[in-house]
Amino acid sequence: MMQMIGLIGGMSWESSAMYYRLLNEGVRARLGPAASARCLLWSFDFAEIKALQHRGAWSELTRLMIGAARHLENAGAEHIVICTNTMHRMADEIQAALSIPLLHIADPTAQSIRAAGLTRIGLLGTAFTMEQDFYKGRLRRQYGLDVLVPDDADRQSVHRIIYDELVAGEIRPESRALYRDIMARLVARGAEGIILGCTEIMLLVSPEDAEVPLFDTTALHVQAAVGAMIGPPR
Ligand code: GLU
Repeated sequence: MMQMIGLIGGMSWESSAMYYRLLNEGVRARLGPAASARCLLWSFDFAEIKALQHRGAWSELTRLMIGAARHLENAGAEHIVICTNTMHRMADEIQAALSIPLLHIADPTAQSIRAAGLTRIGLLGTAFTMEQDFYKGRLRRQYGLDVLVPDDADRQSVHRIIYDELVAGEIRPESRALYRDIMARLVARGAEGIILGCTEIMLLVSPEDAEVPLFDTTALHVQAAVGAMIGPPR
């Protein structure tokens, strides 16, 4: 039988809604028109999470995330999916508190980049994801990827658009134009592809916005989840 996925979401709900849709579409594509995903969703209030992130209260955030993951495990989840890149900062601590696997968002992303034969890769995400080591370090150490991030001013723009617009469901053409320019600057510095390393970016940007392949972490994470639930496609 299909295994039960536990989703930790609400970060933001705009992307969690997309996870839910893509997960169900993925299961339907594999198992037939009436099939749908066996899943549980723990959905946070993002205003609370955002405030704690910007205050640097990472141990409190880790406590909240572990609590959510344990509730999902106790409720019957057989795999855990965290529906945000940023909150993989505490992935190791969450995994250590569980007896079921956590499907890390960077793994299917890196595997897909390697399968495309690329090694020098641009990364867009929150400032936490672009600047701290938890994400870039995993891509480098476990997959040998050379990760480029935008310069200071561009990182601030990418971050601001995520927190002020995308999590609020605002999709603005001028922000898309800015992301296009920022991606073009990464390509000029040698990026062979770009990771959309924030689960809302795909709401703003699509493949035609860049000259190189885009790696949408939301879609890749969901694909991995469907594989975990019903086995790899034959
Ligand atoms: N969904 C975003 C991400 O993938 C940002 C929201 C958050 O900080 O969790 O990083």
